[in-house]
Formats: sequence, C-alpha cells, structure tokens
Amino acid sequence: MLRFLAILFAFVLVVPVIRFVLGLLGRAFTNFALGNRAAGPGQAKPRVPAGGTLRKDPVCGTFVSEDVAILLSSGGHMHYFCSNECRDKFQKQA
Ligand SMILES: [Zn+2]
Repeated sequence: MLRFLAILFAFVLVVPVIRFVLGLLGRAFTNFALGNRAAGPGQAKPRVPAGGTLRKDPVCGTFVSEDVAILLSSGGHMHYFCSNECRDKFQKQA
C-alpha cells in the first residue's frame, strides 16, 4: 500500500515537471521558428536588451549590451553608449 502511495505521489510530482519541460521546449521551438523567419509585420517586438557582451558606457557608467548599444568609433576604439545623449556628451568632451 505504501509503495502504491509512493508511486502515486511520484506521479503527481513528475507530471507537472514533464508538462513544464514540454512547455519550455515548445516555446523554445516557437522562438527558433520565428527567429528563422525574415522580419515581417508580426515581428514588431523590440529586441530584448539581454544577451550579447556587456559594455560600459564611458559617460554614465551604465552597462549596455553590444547588441543594442549606440556605437561610436574614435581613435581606433569602439565606444558603446546607452543613448544618443551619452554619445553626444562623449563627443563634446573629446
Ligand atoms: Zn549612458
């Protein structure tokens, strides 16, 4: 009887975990499929600022992802800014 209860208990615990994992896989697959598609009207979502290498904004000190940073190349160095305002300030200082 205890064995039966243990199996039942394990089953009750395992089923939500499996459903959760399947849900994650389904979502990952959907993202993958959407990512492969060329950007269309349905792709109006802004890019997630997470991911990519983080660079420090030399003006305000904010860490910003390379993917979304405002870039400025000067003196053979690439500078990364969180906003156009910071880039403009940097250019005025230089
Ligand atoms: Zn900044």
